[in-house]
Amino acid sequence: MNDKIKKIANQSLQNEAISREDALHLMQIDGDEIYTLFYWANQIRLRYFDHSVKVCSIVSAKQGRCTEDCRFCSQSAHYHTGIEEFPVIDTNKIVGVANCAEKTGSSSLGIVTSGYSISNPEDLDKICKSIKAIVENTHIQPHGSFGMLTKEMAKALVKCGLKRLNHNLETSERFFPNICSTHSFVDRVNTIRIAKEAGLEVCSGAIFGIGEGVEDRIDLAFTLKNLSVDVIPLNFLHPISGTPLGNCTPLMPMEALKIISIFRFVLPDKEIKIAGGRESSLRDLQSWMFYAGANSTMIGNYLTTKGRKVEEDLQMIKDLKLEVSDENRSSV
Ligand code: SF4
Repeated sequence: MNDKIKKIANQSLQNEAISREDALHLMQIDGDEIYTLFYWANQIRLRYFDHSVKVCSIVSAKQGRCTEDCRFCSQSAHYHTGIEEFPVIDTNKIVGVANCAEKTGSSSLGIVTSGYSISNPEDLDKICKSIKAIVENTHIQPHGSFGMLTKEMAKALVKCGLKRLNHNLETSERFFPNICSTHSFVDRVNTIRIAKEAGLEVCSGAIFGIGEGVEDRIDLAFTLKNLSVDVIPLNFLHPISGTPLGNCTPLMPMEALKIISIFRFVLPDKEIKIAGGRESSLRDLQSWMFYAGANSTMIGNYLTTKGRKVEEDLQMIKDLKLEVSDENRSSV
């Protein structure tokens, strides 16, 4: 078995596509061989990214009252989760968060709004002003997540300086109807295509621990590869009381780490970012995310849940002798 892992790893090290069958084979690994899997995932990470890791932050810029029914989400109006709700926040507030993110080493700030899409021209205008203000007042990149985009919205966002859109596919096309009934997987893919056509970089990934199977995880990895997304954020369910998945048990640390490794094998040279839920799924093994193949992580708080202290994450990176990349920062 160890020889087979090495053989598949050698393909990833040469940036040759591995087969779905081989990825499924890696997903079945258990027992001591899981350490061999991590070893090779780490070798692949080192081959493409050396000791450099990226860190980024997000700000919840419009929260709650979402018309959609994503079964894991605290912001859906279909569930009673007791979160704070607010309309699009002011530019000053967003610039304040961007300044803090810049000081702590983030290379970008993601402006995130709840909802199916940007619901009116006034909100689009406010979002555009904030993006422009980040460009003018900080050295970090403005990124954002705004639900579905039309071509016109994408153009407007590019014009004011947006660099990257986050739009997660969440899970495989097959499993998607089990987690959302108000829009489809195809709708989500469509927004990714619109964003790419408009010249935006795309960050699109998944959430695990929502009842999906092993094949769903693999199929999503290959879909993201085929769509040539730039960054793949991996989230792990942090069960929120009041949502249909509120009583689920978070994934066990080794299972979460194995998923990270297999995404590294399938997408060897892409930025793999560990995002929400790492605290509850990885527990004491959070620093292992890099050894399992990730080269990027979100720091600070998430949208409606708290993350670890930023200082703890930065210390973890330093202790591992990794270096925070400043690649996305402008020099002016
Ligand atoms: S994940 Fe996004 S679209 Fe789905 S309910 Fe939450 S805010 Fe709405």
